[in-house]
Formats: sequence, structure tokens, C-alpha cells
Amino acid sequence: MNHAALRTELHRLHLELPKNGLVTWTSGNISARVPDGDTGGMLIKPSGVTFEDLTPEGMVLTDLEARVLDSDLSPSSDTATHAYIYRHMPQVGGIVHTHSPYATAWAANARDIPCILTAQADEFGGPVPCGGFALIGGEEIGAEVVRVLTNHRSPAIILKSHGVFTIGPTPAKALKAAVMVEDVARTVFLAYQLAAATGGSVATLDPADIDKLYDRYTNVYGQRTSEVGK
Ligand SMILES: [Zn+2]
Repeated sequence: MNHAALRTELHRLHLELPKNGLVTWTSGNISARVPDGDTGGMLIKPSGVTFEDLTPEGMVLTDLEARVLDSDLSPSSDTATHAYIYRHMPQVGGIVHTHSPYATAWAANARDIPCILTAQADEFGGPVPCGGFALIGGEEIGAEVVRVLTNHRSPAIILKSHGVFTIGPTPAKALKAAVMVEDVARTVFLAYQLAAATGGSVATLDPADIDKLYDRYTNVYGQRTSEVGK
């Protein structure tokens, strides 16, 4: 089991994390479900390796109980979380975790990111939910992600006092959600800051308008005949 193409893709996507300002030093990780594994499995970033030292071959193959199958490197310390999500959400093919600064500032305040922009309605179908506090290492974080995101429109969750997890049918789509959640977290913060400075107020979008925007973006927008931009 080598999964060369998936390793190359996962390595390429990891390089987008520092490029988009989502990670510092070795924090942050992406995983990909291995579709044809004998017992099901995933590839994930090795623990404690800087982004410039990552290689396709260095991505660690584990099973969905987070046991290493083929590597001398230890997998990310978030591996149990990723494995739990894959076990409980069969539609998920990729997961991203970051401590991107604006989204994590909302998480530190234990606040959902309110839906005040059309781009949020498009991408997240409403506010980005904030989940409860959970300690790293075991399955508590994964359980909280699954609890909040099951049957939820948003592909992103911020976890109280921690950071961001995003899910997608592919790792690339999970990465897009991670980039977008940081972008809206920054803009929404700036909007509230500007309102506070000028004595104005920020209106959240009407739920009926959110539904229309989300439906249009999900079903109409984009290139229907190709994978362009996905
Ligand atoms: Zn973390």
C-alpha cells in the first residue's frame, strides 16, 4: 500500500497552509481518507515536522483506529481526532486542522462566527458553529466535531479555546473551507470593530436570505462540467 498520488496531493495541500497564513511553525495538519485500504485507513502529516521538510513519502499511513501501518515517523498528535471523524462520518474524505488566528480568536471567545456576509451564507450556510472545550490526545475532540457537524451545513467548526477543524468530501475541499473560515473570521471581526469604533451596528443576514444564497451557491454556482476550482 503506497498510495503515491494521494501522498503527492496531500503534500501539495499542506504547503498551502503556510502560504495562506493559516499555520505557525509545525502546527496544523491535513489528512486524507484512503479509499481503497484493506481495512480503511488514512494518510496524515507526521508529528513535529516543519512544512518545508515535509515530503509525500513522509505522510504517515494509519488505520482508522489511529494505529500506524507503514511509517517510522509518528503521526500528528491529532490523529485520533481525524480517525474518529472518518469512522463516524462516512461522507468525509479529507480533514484540516489549524489554529488560524482570527478564527481561533473567535474560538477563544467561545462565540459562533455570526453570519453577516453573503460569502458566509454561500460557503457555510449560516454561522460557523463553536463547539465545546475538549482536551487533545484522545477522542474527545473528534466526538465534539462529529456531534456539532453531523447534519450541519457548515463544513467548519471552531472549538472553544483551541482552533479550527474543517471537513470535506476531498482534502482539497476541506482546505478551501479552512481558508474561507479564516477569511470570514477576519472580515467579521473587522466589521464589529468598525461598528464599535463608529457607534454603528452590524446586522446578521435574514435566515430566508441565507437559505437562498446557500441553495444557489450549492446547486448553481461554478463549473458544472468539470472539477475547476473545486
Ligand atoms: Zn490543535
